[in-house]
Amino acid sequence: MTRHVEAPLRSASCRPRIEDIDTLVLHYTELDLQRSLAILRDGPVSVHWLLDVDGTVYRLVSEELVAYHAGLSMWRGRAAVNERSVGIEIVNANGNHHPYPERQIAALLALCEDILARNRGIAAAGVVGHSDIAPKRKVDPGILFPWRRLAAAGIGLWPEGGAVEDGDGDSDVAQLLRACGYPPPHGYGLRDGLPALFPVGEPVRPGRDEVVWVEEADLVAAFQRRFRPRQVDGIADGETLALLRGLARLSV
Ligand SMILES: [Zn+2]
Repeated sequence: MTRHVEAPLRSASCRPRIEDIDTLVLHYTELDLQRSLAILRDGPVSVHWLLDVDGTVYRLVSEELVAYHAGLSMWRGRAAVNERSVGIEIVNANGNHHPYPERQIAALLALCEDILARNRGIAAAGVVGHSDIAPKRKVDPGILFPWRRLAAAGIGLWPEGGAVEDGDGDSDVAQLLRACGYPPPHGYGLRDGLPALFPVGEPVRPGRDEVVWVEEADLVAAFQRRFRPRQVDGIADGETLALLRGLARLSV
């Protein structure tokens, strides 16, 4: 039986929702439980749920409120994913290096099932990692996160099988990525000191704007980080293309 703990914010880092919920975003904390609790309860960032390594679930923000976990982000053509998402922070120093323990995964499956049962607007294609919605900027929940196992439990999508294709040059990788929900190439950074996304082609004003550009290879790497974690190199090889096509077919 999962232990649930109420741990409400001590900051004002949440606000009423205006939009309907259609996305569930998964993160790792980079910090241990106590430091995660301190930052998420007192700081400028926040999240609805925090999941400890032993499977204990902390409720920090009601799902009726917007929490500040995703930052600059885009999914299925819409920016500002916080406005319409529920967030889970999973205690793990770096899910690209440290496996998620079994008790934590079991509790995560139960928590996700609860969230999806309460929020029928979250389709399978709306279950994402932070690295999916903020490519290049974020790499959580990491290559060791058990996405395939979640999908087998009905949480999120997983592209099965599909013949490995020749990389034929004609494949429209950008179109496939967008069909799966990934953002188009873009920039992220600061506009007049405030966090902002930059469409490709938008003029950057020296001294006033700071931009990191996200290229197609960065988007392919974000896809691989989740669906082909064995080799995250940003190259749309035959296996990656087959998985992309498989996921695009499922992402309706
Ligand atoms: Zn994150």
